[in-house]
Amino acid sequence: MTVYNFCAGPAMLPADVMTKARNEFLNFQDLGVSVMEISHRSSPYIALAEEAEQNLRDLMGIPDDYAVLFMHGGARGQFSAVPLNLLGEGKALYLNSGQWSDAAGVEAAKYGTVETRDLRRSAGDLDLGDLGDTRGYRYVHYCPNETVNGTALFDLPQVDSPLVADMSSCILGREVEVSKFGLIYAGAQKNAGPAGLALVIVRRDLLGQADPKTPAILDYALADKTDSMYNTPPTYPWYLAGEVFKWVKTQGGVAAVAENNRAKADRLYQFIDDSPFYRNEVAAHCRSEMNVTFQLQDTALDARFLREAEAAGLMALEGHRMVGGMRASLYNAMPMAGVEALIAFMSRFEQEHV
Ligand code: PMP
Repeated sequence: MTVYNFCAGPAMLPADVMTKARNEFLNFQDLGVSVMEISHRSSPYIALAEEAEQNLRDLMGIPDDYAVLFMHGGARGQFSAVPLNLLGEGKALYLNSGQWSDAAGVEAAKYGTVETRDLRRSAGDLDLGDLGDTRGYRYVHYCPNETVNGTALFDLPQVDSPLVADMSSCILGREVEVSKFGLIYAGAQKNAGPAGLALVIVRRDLLGQADPKTPAILDYALADKTDSMYNTPPTYPWYLAGEVFKWVKTQGGVAAVAENNRAKADRLYQFIDDSPFYRNEVAAHCRSEMNVTFQLQDTALDARFLREAEAAGLMALEGHRMVGGMRASLYNAMPMAGVEALIAFMSRFEQEHV
């Protein structure tokens, strides 16, 4: 039975990447040892690390005046690193659109002055509105894809200070113009690799103003100066992320996978909208193409739905514990066949229970 894994993260990785990793697991480049057993300062590892960075630069069109950092601590590590590095004595604006942007603001407030703006007209309807004059902020933070809520912001917030984005659940899933951002960060474990790695893309003129108490491993300027090797980096996740970047290139790059992602999500939303048995409560203009949330009209059937889905090889469809319901995460690695299998199951389940 083919298993399709709809987990929001850690999420499925491309089958080709997993096969290649398995094949060279014990013997990397004929060294007779695994890539996870070699020094991060050895020449094969440095070559791999540089190639991964270059491929990410190519895929996202990252300009030369941006540093690309491979860091520890996941996205939450960056919830702390961003204010520690950028906030100084000033204030920051956090745009709240759901679970994760809320959490980022709460963490940042530990380190200085944070103002928040709630973008939710309702849980499933976001409005960027007019943010007015934002010149007084050291940066404006937002989350373009709220993994828990299944909501997305496709337009850029119009701001006059550096824009900081938590792209944990959409990096490499849709096209972005990096030069519009001061800083982009992402936990890797959805679209970019396994857990244990955070990607940071930061305009270099923002570096060098970190709070003196910033832990060295969260200091962007230090990470940049040491090519993300101030301490031992998460070498195996970095290697796997590098393989994912190569794979995205073979798919035709971000534009091609983004088109495919839209097609997958549209197919599922259409099915849900056409069915009286399921519903999605997110306004059409902010429906995430990465995390499709849905509910059964009769929530008494939730447990049964999940049990039978699992038995049919459709894994991890349970919604986040904060919101309940269902969630199908359709990251880059999920093929259309997985979406079709899910729809076939949902359709069958509906017929059996109406
Ligand atoms: N931001 C977003 C948008 C997320 O989806 C997640 C994880 N689901 C996080 C932050 C937290 O990531 P981590 O567990 O890597 O700290």
